[in-house]
Amino acid sequence: MASYDIGGDAGDRATIYADEKYKKGFFVTKRTAVLLTVLAIVVLALVAVLFYFLPVSSTEPGEGTPAPGEDIDPLPQRPTDPPPTEDPRGPFDGRLPDSLVPEHYNIWLKTYLDNEDGPKQFTYEGVSTVELRCEKDTDIIKIHFLSLNIDYQSVQVFHLDEEDRETKHKISIKNIYTEEIYDFLVIEVEDTLRSGEIYSVTIGYDAILNTNPLFGYYLTSYKVGDETRWLSAAVFQPNGARMTFPCLDEPNLKATFDIAMVHRPKRRALANMNEIAFENDGDWNTTHFNRSVLMPTYLVSFSLTDFPSLEMTTPNDVLFRVWAREEDIDAANYSLYIGSAMLTFFEDYYSLPYPMPKMDMIASPEFISGALECWGHILYDENAMLYDPKVHPPTRQKRVAEIVAHELVHMWFGNLVTLDWWDHLWLNEGFATFLPYIAVEKFHPEWKIWDQFLTDDMASAMSADSTSSRSKPLVRTTGWVDEIWSMFDTMSYSKGASVLRSFSTFLRNETISRGILYYLHENVYGNVVTDDLWESLTKADLEDRNTDVKEIMDPWALQSGFPVVTVIRTAADMVEINQTHFLLDPNDEPSDEFPNLGFKWYVPLTYTYKSRDQFYPPLEAMLSPDTDKKQLRLEGTPQDDWVLFNINKQGYFRVNYDTDNWVKLAEQLKTDHKVFPTQTRASILDDCLIISQPGYVDHVYGLRLTEYLYYEEEYAPWQLVLRALPFTHGMLLRTSEFGMFEKYWRSQIVPLYLSVGWNFTNSDLLDYYQRINAIETACRYGNEDCIEVSKSLYRAWMEDPGNDPTPDEVNEIVYCTAIRHGGPAEWQFAYDQSKSSSPGTRTLLENAMGCSRDSWQLQYYLEDYHSDGRSRVAIDNIRDKSSLGYSTAWEFTMTRFEELLNIYGNSSFDIVWDFADLMTTRYDHEKLHMFGTKHRDMPASAASGFYRAVEIVETNIAWMDRNQESIREWLVDVTSNMPDVKAHARATDGVVEHIKTVVSGRRHQSRASLHEFHWAKPENVL
Ligand SMILES: [Zn+2]
Repeated sequence: MASYDIGGDAGDRATIYADEKYKKGFFVTKRTAVLLTVLAIVVLALVAVLFYFLPVSSTEPGEGTPAPGEDIDPLPQRPTDPPPTEDPRGPFDGRLPDSLVPEHYNIWLKTYLDNEDGPKQFTYEGVSTVELRCEKDTDIIKIHFLSLNIDYQSVQVFHLDEEDRETKHKISIKNIYTEEIYDFLVIEVEDTLRSGEIYSVTIGYDAILNTNPLFGYYLTSYKVGDETRWLSAAVFQPNGARMTFPCLDEPNLKATFDIAMVHRPKRRALANMNEIAFENDGDWNTTHFNRSVLMPTYLVSFSLTDFPSLEMTTPNDVLFRVWAREEDIDAANYSLYIGSAMLTFFEDYYSLPYPMPKMDMIASPEFISGALECWGHILYDENAMLYDPKVHPPTRQKRVAEIVAHELVHMWFGNLVTLDWWDHLWLNEGFATFLPYIAVEKFHPEWKIWDQFLTDDMASAMSADSTSSRSKPLVRTTGWVDEIWSMFDTMSYSKGASVLRSFSTFLRNETISRGILYYLHENVYGNVVTDDLWESLTKADLEDRNTDVKEIMDPWALQSGFPVVTVIRTAADMVEINQTHFLLDPNDEPSDEFPNLGFKWYVPLTYTYKSRDQFYPPLEAMLSPDTDKKQLRLEGTPQDDWVLFNINKQGYFRVNYDTDNWVKLAEQLKTDHKVFPTQTRASILDDCLIISQPGYVDHVYGLRLTEYLYYEEEYAPWQLVLRALPFTHGMLLRTSEFGMFEKYWRSQIVPLYLSVGWNFTNSDLLDYYQRINAIETACRYGNEDCIEVSKSLYRAWMEDPGNDPTPDEVNEIVYCTAIRHGGPAEWQFAYDQSKSSSPGTRTLLENAMGCSRDSWQLQYYLEDYHSDGRSRVAIDNIRDKSSLGYSTAWEFTMTRFEELLNIYGNSSFDIVWDFADLMTTRYDHEKLHMFGTKHRDMPASAASGFYRAVEIVETNIAWMDRNQESIREWLVDVTSNMPDVKAHARATDGVVEHIKTVVSGRRHQSRASLHEFHWAKPENVL
């Protein structure tokens, strides 16, 4: 891990002072001598670093590179990396022995949810029997359980007759004990269990329904008027089953399940399988469910609700039902329609029928994540399953479609074919993230969902994977449950999906389809590891190209990160290609937490060039990990052709070119951008803007690519540029170029802004996204019309504080804009409103209060919050809004630092380090240095933050040295003939009145639901 904390006690504090004592030759202890030596090394290293980063001669005083013999102010002691900490639990040794394999479970559960259940309310009683096949002689039985109150008297072991399992002989128990570290109940028997024989273990227990977290067998509720309606449901992945019934809780120990639920007649019991029998004894019903197919424990699920349902039967005869609370059941219509259609679509797509007789999808009022793929009984959070077009924005519809598709993919990838152990979770989640795109494209082609693969999954994966602290291999060793939980991350989902998408760069589509069918069909009801997928694809490719898929894919699955591929034109028809591990921060280093393969990859290259005039199919080549520089001939390419690699960013890597080629690509975009497919345009912009941050190419080449955006109508290129833009914005914020930078973007956004307007109602999805982007950009860079609308909306709110007419989708930028271009009254209104607002609105308003351009207002904000002990809120909100905000916040932080220490303790240092991202000058560097000197006795944890901040500032200075001049020249050039936006027609006549009417109508229907889904992304879909 890159961040660490050595601790803050006196013993750890840096102890080097510019002390008179040793200057005068006083007694120096051995320890002090060592420290002095360390100091000398640190200073020398620092000087070396400063020389490295600050090579430009400068006349500014105090450059931090002292002349020989000059006094150096001591800095905080640089903390050394702590030795890697061993897990105090030791290596995980908690896998079940292979002596006993479960074949079948009988689960009986009686759940108490009501007042009349007295002290038993919110508890349940259970009896679980597991039938085990003995594979090796043993006299020990290990079964998982956690947080269950086991009735030890009830535990019984039997030897069963294999043919007639009702015929059984009791086995005496010698001892029962627990191994809590591994959640084991250990039963020692008198007679050795013999290989080949069948045994059963029956255990009675009771337990409390879980409420925090909502995991295992959990309790939740909803209100109807004043009445609270209680319900319960079970969600187990990865280890919740053992919290609900004693079981052998590992994903490769599949078994069949008979479940019986005892419940009050007013509720309906549902489980994985269909109901086959009911019993009623007056107060209680017992619902018996059909025996399940073979499945792992983590997919078992059941629920007790009083929900109504909607249902239909699919063309393949699957009963498909959706369940939700009565008042919301109409909003389940969409998930019923899209879910049943997609289930049939996937059955055809995989040529494998859905093996369960029915599908129930249940909208839980509270849920631990977006949804969970329990087989035949999928549980959702309401906001992931319910969509009401009268109330919800189109992003909600997309969220429901994507999450429903995700869970349905799991019915095959995960449920029918299950990972052998959690190390290979990406096989579940990668497919369940990737394949929904195919289904969503089929049912909603108007969403252009594949373009959003680049802006959503690919962008999140690459962002995480280019920072060593977040980048991890797809396959990693897991054992402890926290390690297993950590697998549910961006790597398993988004990188997994991106890697699957990259197959098409070196395998034919038919081969991929065939390979995936092999993978599914050959492992039905079985378990898999990553190599099984490679094997299926290799087999599918045998008749075609004979590709060794494992060899190509291992570097992508077994090590973290991805490469940037640099393409240099060495002659008209020749390019030279090499690869480098891409990290966004040039000071970052790959983590040594995981094994690696030298951070080199097999990179499948797809490419074309201008006069070839063809993108599909592209030309292909392979860059192998052991080739330093690959020469590639582009037959008959004229010198003035551009070349283009990684068409549509189908491969999971970034591309860099020689500057000449970047210029040619920019020219092509300006001449006719539609020559490039949308995803290719988006990728060219994204790659150049991102790789120019750590300096693979000058940033101006990325900015030049954006010149054509004035004519860009598609979402993906805009979205990726706007995602990268805050970096450039932050670097230029305090420079004299910023005015031109604002003017440039103010102009570029005009056509888009005018085309999408402000009306969020009845919008289709892409317009909805584009509208948010356009309004945010137009307002941020000072579009007059955007400012006027924002001010009008805000003024309307000021006049009627009970009714804010601003669309929730853009309220953050509207508040900020109204305050930035308003006066004391606007600021004061935000201040007053923030005192009585919900936490969410308060955060928005406090953020907007930092947008003021009045120095005294910002100062007041800082002092007022400081007096309440909340200075950090004000500092954080002011710092990055403007150059004025930055300097006001910095000065305040410096002058009040001792007081900040009193309020925030050692975390006050982080307030200072947070300025580093915006520190871009040598003067900033000097000020940071001076602060470090003044507080050189800061604790080691703060000192490590100091050196990290210094590193950031030095990187920023080097970046500015390299880029500022060329950016300035480009901005002068590009903005000199640019008409300013003030002259443009208004898109928004009458818009404020219109928005007020629409918003108050919508708000009446549902206030909360509009808030949630600006950027629908199933982050937490299990
Ligand atoms: Zn999933």
